[in-house]
Amino acid sequence: MNAAPDRFSHLVGQPVAAIDTPALVLDLDAMDRNLHRMADFCRARGLRLRPHAKMHKCAELARLQMAHGAVGVCVQKIGEALALAAQGVSDIYVSNEVVDEAKLARLAAAVRAGGTRFGLAVDSALGVQRLADALAHAGVTAAAAIDVYVEIDVGHGRCGAAPGEPALALARAVAAHPVLRFAGLQAYHGTAQHQRSGAERRASIARAAEAVALTRGLLEASGIAVPLVTGAGTGTFVHETASGQWGELQAGSYLFMDADYAANAADADAPAFEHALFVKAQVMSRPEGRAVIDAGHKSHAIDSGLPRVWWPEGLDFANGGDEHGVLRGAHLPALGDTVWLVPGHCDPTVNLHDVLVGVRGGLSAGHVERLLRVDARGALG
Ligand code: PLP
Ligand code: MN
Repeated sequence: MNAAPDRFSHLVGQPVAAIDTPALVLDLDAMDRNLHRMADFCRARGLRLRPHAKMHKCAELARLQMAHGAVGVCVQKIGEALALAAQGVSDIYVSNEVVDEAKLARLAAAVRAGGTRFGLAVDSALGVQRLADALAHAGVTAAAAIDVYVEIDVGHGRCGAAPGEPALALARAVAAHPVLRFAGLQAYHGTAQHQRSGAERRASIARAAEAVALTRGLLEASGIAVPLVTGAGTGTFVHETASGQWGELQAGSYLFMDADYAANAADADAPAFEHALFVKAQVMSRPEGRAVIDAGHKSHAIDSGLPRVWWPEGLDFANGGDEHGVLRGAHLPALGDTVWLVPGHCDPTVNLHDVLVGVRGGLSAGHVERLLRVDARGALG
């Protein structure tokens, strides 16, 4: 574990200017507005919200989302699920496939321990059987002890059984195990999230909705009720909502909003989300014609594009390596000046940090209100 001196704990109550760099800073006012906008959107439409906690990996934020109406959270990994459950998150759905017996044993032990409602996605008969076996080995005998969703590939081209008959066969396999509860269909179209125009995203989700309708119809005609269809992300959830096929939304990034999502053309009917996640950096070298800051790609993920320089305005960011960012522009900041970045992709950026420094009252005049631990940082298993 990290034995370095804690750079942040003494900062609570201190002005933003005191925050040591680089730091991952959460604008709590902007985050609260995003939290409420999404909660209001779902409440007004009678939709369940199960935000994706792989984005923030933080139990405190998961509990906050649930306190504002979310039914629970999603995660992608058993390790994430266990880390959040250990911190009191009471309803956790692993929206991903797990076939490894050791991992399933860890999940089964947590189901056995009680106190948390768990769910898991499946797309193979082996996955269904191994989950049932793991529960049996752990001594879980209660009926419907875990929610199981059959994932269908609705155009993403990642996991998921083909819509129609293959999904029906899996739903039957789930229903055959009394300890498993067939909870519905997982239908998430990842590649649609960052199609830049609303028209492209609408078309992708319209095709996804056809796959959902076909599969749901087949299951119901075969006597298998489909309690829920769950899916959607920050880029498309208005289209899943409009289709009427989904009963639960899994958007995650809406809470922090990254530069990649801000590059999407906005949908007229979508709530406006604000950037709430920033990297605070400092100019640490000032050669002629450029300013070099102390934040490189160990401070922010660059898989979905470089960060945007939020403040000062009008600067271009170039990657200077692990620990450096190189800024160019007409009005360069001076040595020691603060620079604020908006990360390109929030999820893997958060995973680079132990702590989110929560700021109240704005990035310039505000103060550190609280520190939020990234509980499931690095929980990849
Ligand atoms: N659901 C699943 C299965 C995902 O993989 C993701 C993100 O990749 C999401 C929901 C949430 O998407 P976003 O954070 O883009 O809103
Ligand atoms: Mn993401």
